[in-house]
Amino acid sequence: MLNPDETLEDLLGRGLRDLRISVTDRCNFRCTYCMPKEVFNRDHAFLPHAELLTFEEIARLAAVFVSLGTRKLRLTGGEPLMRRDLETLIAMLAELDRAEDIALTTNGSFSPERVHSLRAAGLRRMTVSLDSLDDAVFMAMNDVQFPVIQVLAWIEESIAAGFAPVKVNMVVKRGVNDDSLLPMARHFNRPDTILRYIEYMDVGHTNGWRMDDVVPAAEILRRLQAEMPLEPLDPNYRGEVAQRYRNTDTGAEIGLVASVTQPFCGDCSRARISADGKLFTCLFAIGGADLKALLRGGASDDDLRAAITGVWQKRIDRYSELRTAQTADLPKVEMSFIGG
Ligand code: SAM
Ligand code: SF4
Ligand code: SF4
Repeated sequence: MLNPDETLEDLLGRGLRDLRISVTDRCNFRCTYCMPKEVFNRDHAFLPHAELLTFEEIARLAAVFVSLGTRKLRLTGGEPLMRRDLETLIAMLAELDRAEDIALTTNGSFSPERVHSLRAAGLRRMTVSLDSLDDAVFMAMNDVQFPVIQVLAWIEESIAAGFAPVKVNMVVKRGVNDDSLLPMARHFNRPDTILRYIEYMDVGHTNGWRMDDVVPAAEILRRLQAEMPLEPLDPNYRGEVAQRYRNTDTGAEIGLVASVTQPFCGDCSRARISADGKLFTCLFAIGGADLKALLRGGASDDDLRAAITGVWQKRIDRYSELRTAQTADLPKVEMSFIGG
């Protein structure tokens, strides 16, 4: 157990501050950049239920991470709301004293009523993914004909439930939705949302990523600044992935996540647990350490702490700083599996 201000450090001096927990590898969308239909179809072997960590196992692991200095927990997937009774897990995590933040990343496709029970269970922050306001563009990207209006309703209800500012993630792919950059900025030009433009990444190895498809954050900024006055803001904390800007007219904040063109591995304090309980120390990892085997093999909390410490203290990951056209073809774990 570390003191509250201490944290475990890896070989590059990076703390273990942030844990992303994938609660399922399933999703009701087939976003072309994440779970392309040709691969994630009827023949795809999703994890059987018995292989998923139970809520008790997740909460136990989260407690061990928190005892090692982790302060932020994010539930993700796949689509985390596909996991039944997610509120029960949130309530279990909310009991961890030293966890300062419990956040959710969702595609916002469920009944907006749900945001209230998530809030009541102890969820603190809401991130919603939305790639365009144009139905034709959004539907081509989610590839299941899901309409924009329902995601907007989720965002509005989240604000009403007290989650403001709600983060809105837009993955930008050249020639697909870059025409939506400005309409999105105009729509979310308000203080209760933070629109974050995310460079399209070569996560996994099934999305056919090419550098030409990436719209660099610097270009996104130029295109926005042609229309609105944006000034840079200081990061909220060390290791924040988004470069922050504020519209000086309206006070609205936007973020740019330049994972491809301006990598931020130097400050990366994030670990990930896949839905089947593997610990990954990089979004672009090829393999992970099997914590579920330890959990189900009767490991004590000290054993788990030792295993996690051993992995983190050897960590040298900095994939995005080393990315080349060749590394894009490595057999990396899919984002829907490892958790975005
Ligand atoms: N299903 C939830 C959702 O879409 O918000 C949570 C999981 S999703 C994998 C988490 C985030 O990763 C989403 O904001 C999504 O847009 C982003 N993402 C997925 N594939 C990506 C890619 N190839 N490049 C950049 N971001 C990606
Ligand atoms: Fe599903 Fe999210 Fe991946 Fe889209 S980005 S396919 S909503 S997990
Ligand atoms: Fe962190 Fe890996 Fe992304 Fe670098 S590439 S910021 S080490 S997750």
